[in-house]
Amino acid sequence: MNPTPDQSVVWLSIAREAFAHSSTASEAALALERLGRQAGLGGAFALGLQELVAYASAASDRAQDAIDAELEAVAASRRIVCPLLEAKLQARLDALDAQLRGKCSCSECGKVMQSEGRPKRSWDSSVGQLSLKRRQTECGQCKRHEFPAQRAIGLGDGDCNPRGLRPCSWTSLYFASLVQFGSRRGWKKPSP
Ligand SMILES: [Zn+2]
Repeated sequence: MNPTPDQSVVWLSIAREAFAHSSTASEAALALERLGRQAGLGGAFALGLQELVAYASAASDRAQDAIDAELEAVAASRRIVCPLLEAKLQARLDALDAQLRGKCSCSECGKVMQSEGRPKRSWDSSVGQLSLKRRQTECGQCKRHEFPAQRAIGLGDGDCNPRGLRPCSWTSLYFASLVQFGSRRGWKKPSP
């Protein structure tokens, strides 16, 4: 997915602003932290870039083997994309809440549900904790609560986003095993 020209301008201006007056990685990290306080994708991009700067400038541990280095890189990659995933999901929830306002019917009795505001809550995901606001509605007759936008994007009521957690965990395990077999036990991919 290519960024639109407008998005590219935002990303470049954030990077330029962070690095223009910074002569060290720690100064750039501080500038990105400040830029990360802005709402939306721009702030999330700054926070992700701050994590990338931290990972790129951390000194290599000479005692660390390739597997631990890979696991550290995977953890860093999750921290880099987590704020962006959160901002993207929040944008979808915002749009759906605006679109569905006043139009949600109770799935039990069919009456129009009333808004009870947009409380925030957290979910665990394969890239870290996601904190998201979404509209809560109540049926005056059944006293049931629903979260229409949350349901529309497939976020469950539990603590984690299970469809996201499962494949990522298995993929990580697979690659960790592959590196382990390849580097430590002389394993080679068989010829076709
Ligand atoms: Zn009802």
